[in-house]
Amino acid sequence: MLTDDQLLRYSRQILLPEFDVAGQAALAAARVLLIGAGGLGCPAALYLAGAGVGELILADPDKVDSSNLHRQIAYRETDVGQPKAQALAATLHALNSEVRITAHVLAADDSWLATQVPGVTLVLDCSDNFATREAVNRACHAAGVPLISGAAIRQEGQLAVFDFRQPESPCYGCLYGDGEGPDTLCSESGILGPVVGTVGTLQAHLALRLLSGANVGGVLHLFDGATMSWRQLRLRRDPGCRVCGG
Ligand SMILES: [Zn+2]
Repeated sequence: MLTDDQLLRYSRQILLPEFDVAGQAALAAARVLLIGAGGLGCPAALYLAGAGVGELILADPDKVDSSNLHRQIAYRETDVGQPKAQALAATLHALNSEVRITAHVLAADDSWLATQVPGVTLVLDCSDNFATREAVNRACHAAGVPLISGAAIRQEGQLAVFDFRQPESPCYGCLYGDGEGPDTLCSESGILGPVVGTVGTLQAHLALRLLSGANVGGVLHLFDGATMSWRQLRLRRDPGCRVCGG
């Protein structure tokens, strides 16, 4: 049940017929786990906190560096040297004190994810390396928890929803198999801030749509910032996938 203050605060999104009071109530009841508090996690978390998600759980092992400030929009110069998860939590609390926020300064691995993922409504993968992406995918598939995956490098971005509430959903492993090369790092290849910001923002958008009942799974969205073009690819489950096949 929403209070009068909440109905006012969230009125601009409640006005949307496809979101409505029911969408707001679903959002308030949701627990969302964000893996990574960098260029993707900052905008994603800001929009989710602003929208009134009930609980946000943040995990990131790193501290804010001056080279992060061009794209990691939750941070200020005074945050340099602070753990990102804690600095982001402080910013989110200032934005919306109704949101319950837990900050974990750690790298999400299989054992930690196994303790967290089964209890959440949705996971956003905002991490920057394949090992974490694969661990998050395994944990979400095992728990039947939907996963919104985002990535960006240089001027290119991509995002996809794997809705593991549906038994036939493809997974991140179906897309990338087990032939992973080395990680492509922003520190080596470069990244434009608005590109990663766009992907993180749209992870939040897909989260709001999924939590309010829309079917948003099974599509890979690819963005090319150099040509300002988008492509959509329908994802198929790989019967030979190490994670979800067989
Ligand atoms: Zn798979």
